[in-house]
Amino acid sequence: MNRLVLVRYGEIILKGLNRPVFEDLLVKNIRQALKDECELKIYKAQATIYIEPKDDSCTDSIVEKLKKVFGIVSIVVAYGAEKNMDDIEKQIVENFATELKNAKTFKVIAKRADKKFHMQSPEICEEIGGRILDAFPNLSVDVKNPEINVYVEIREHGYVHLDKIQGAGGMPSGSNGKAMLLLSGGIDSPVAGYMIGKRGVYMEAVHFFSYPYTSDRAKDKVLKLASIIASYTGSLKVHIVPFTDIQLEIRDKCPEEHLTLVMRRFMMAIAERIAIKRGCQALITGESIGQVASQTMSALAVTDDAVNMPVFRPLIGMDKEEIVEISRKIDTFETSILPYEDCCTVFTPRHPTTKPKIERIVFSQEKLDIERLINEAVEGTETVEV
Ligand code: ATP
Ligand code: MG
Repeated sequence: MNRLVLVRYGEIILKGLNRPVFEDLLVKNIRQALKDECELKIYKAQATIYIEPKDDSCTDSIVEKLKKVFGIVSIVVAYGAEKNMDDIEKQIVENFATELKNAKTFKVIAKRADKKFHMQSPEICEEIGGRILDAFPNLSVDVKNPEINVYVEIREHGYVHLDKIQGAGGMPSGSNGKAMLLLSGGIDSPVAGYMIGKRGVYMEAVHFFSYPYTSDRAKDKVLKLASIIASYTGSLKVHIVPFTDIQLEIRDKCPEEHLTLVMRRFMMAIAERIAIKRGCQALITGESIGQVASQTMSALAVTDDAVNMPVFRPLIGMDKEEIVEISRKIDTFETSILPYEDCCTVFTPRHPTTKPKIERIVFSQEKLDIERLINEAVEGTETVEV
């Protein structure tokens, strides 16, 4: 029997009627994530998803892809064994020789899911532990703090494996509705998307693009960020909204200190329009209290006031360093710091208001033909799927 991959998922949401829905969605997302891998068999049994590749050589790349699938708590690479002590010993000695030779201490952990099996877990541990000690004289048993845990599982088949690999956690993409991410080229919004995506929310994204003030390279950067997010969520449609006309109008007709907030209200309103068209239930932004002038408490209230949909801001209480740490972990950081102009930096006022009054910003905005500007932007939107 080949190497195979065992996938475990969380227990909390598995109660009652949700369970099959959750499992089927996770299996579907796993199939999607592994669609370019070698031929494989996927099936589930006893709260575990089994993946059997036809060819051992693709196991490592399967594991790398599974590490990004939301809803997976842990992954193990296991070897099949006959349900008898001789074959279990043989599989351990053959397949884990390098690890066992280089360690000083170990422990056997046995799990007997097949209650009809004639030995109980402690007996299995004792028997296999003894055989490992005979085969590797360098080792001794340490039940409290071993260097290596050797797992023996007795199910409808026998399996042996070493330690678990941590999965991405969260809930399967698509298990919690759909939202629209406002995706800039910065550090924050990709992290915000990742965090909401992790909770099982499927996403699409809008990006406001100010050609020719921002270049095609800035757009490519956003699409690259989108593709990194998609490597976790499966896919991502990016709606690219032409924003230059709106920004020029704002610049010409609104007081300079209101530019950013009026612009942010337009962004939210346009994102909401597209979100409704696309069946989304919420907006997601990368804002965090006080990070910049447009993210003070009163500024956030002005932004919120432009829409009716709930706005999720998962970074709201985080420091920049904490956000950067996640962006490194999810691999968006290096792309986010590429130095291409963003639509907002181009039109930033010298002295933005930090304690805006909603009425005054709305008054400034009403000098513009809001409906026409929004409609034109929505109509000019181009959609790219990554
Ligand atoms: P980020 O690092 O995500 O760009 P930021 O700290 O630079 O955030 P702002 O530029 O003020 O903050 O933007 C706040 C939020 O507004 C962003 O996190 C993002 O969700 C959204 N946003 C900003 N610019 C754009 C854009 N060009 N297209 C789409 N959304 C945007
Ligand atoms: Mg930004």
